[in-house]
Amino acid sequence: MAKAGAKLALLGVLALQVLPCAAAWHNANQSVMGTEVSVTLWTDDTDQGQQQAEQAMAAVFAEMHRIDATYSPYKDTSELARLNRDGSKSAQTISAETWFLLKRSLHYAQITDGAFDITFASVGWFYDYRNKKQPKPSATRKLLPAINYRWLQLDEAAQTVFFQHANVRIDLGGIAKGYAVDRAIALLGHHGIRHATVSAGGDSKILGDKRGKPWLIGIKHPRLPADAPTTSVITLPLADTAVSTSGDYERFFVDEQGTRIHHIINPKTGRPAEGIMSVTVLGPHGIDTDALSTSVFVLGLTQGLALIERLAEVDGIIITTDGKTHYSSGLAPPKR
Ligand code: AMP
Ligand code: MG
Repeated sequence: MAKAGAKLALLGVLALQVLPCAAAWHNANQSVMGTEVSVTLWTDDTDQGQQQAEQAMAAVFAEMHRIDATYSPYKDTSELARLNRDGSKSAQTISAETWFLLKRSLHYAQITDGAFDITFASVGWFYDYRNKKQPKPSATRKLLPAINYRWLQLDEAAQTVFFQHANVRIDLGGIAKGYAVDRAIALLGHHGIRHATVSAGGDSKILGDKRGKPWLIGIKHPRLPADAPTTSVITLPLADTAVSTSGDYERFFVDEQGTRIHHIINPKTGRPAEGIMSVTVLGPHGIDTDALSTSVFVLGLTQGLALIERLAEVDGIIITTDGKTHYSSGLAPPKR
């Protein structure tokens, strides 16, 4: 018996040697860009795999911190802060990356007729969600003319931007996290990673599948009590895609009139956009799904859905303030 047992054990060792390496999932979280950034990735379960995971994680978080240091509106030393300080005094030289982000932002401003507009910050800057403060109607009226993406003059030959109105401020909060998850997934690819997810608040990107299965991505219920057993209203099986959700529950307070004052601003009014509680957009690139989720939130159900339908490779789910869920045609559940 003992012999047979030893033989079996030996067989076990041999089998282990010829089997492919066991799976090793790695996860790390850090607070960056004012949100929780989470990275999950797969490597072989070997010392080399462990090292690959550590290097890949370090590269991703370094990149996230770099993007935050460059585009944070709250850091005086950021490139964005410099543009807001000096952009209306003289044309400011910008990096190739900032050029790319501004061009992409202007593209979305154009195709949404200004619903997505990074100059929203000319008024948006005066909302303080933590301290429950909002600009007075008179201040909003005064600053509203500064919200207009057409004030941003980009000079391609000189690689500069000039703000043609003294009160213009810009903020990339509606597009930068999606860009950051794109950068993170690209870096993971360079490190040889084939299966991963990176999420930064409402913006996620998925690389590959979950080793033969789809990733299950939950869409947050916009109004569930904190102690609810599940926080998702829908779960989507996904692979190789970006997903962005914009919600009126992310940063908000309720004012004395009982109005929910949230962080997605309608550039036409300088007030929080109305009619929608959450928008989820799926597509190949985070920079686009991020800008589009914010855009659709401002455009509202009819125009927002029409925009999603016009764009190739993009789908969306909209939850309106009446609690109804609306799907773009690529996601609509079959009719019974
Ligand atoms: P998201 O997190 O993608 O839902 O975008 C919300 C963020 O986008 C806000 O916190 C602001 O930084 C920014 N934002 C708000 N309103 C607009 C707007 N109309 N156009 C572009 N960005 C906006
Ligand atoms: Mg967005």
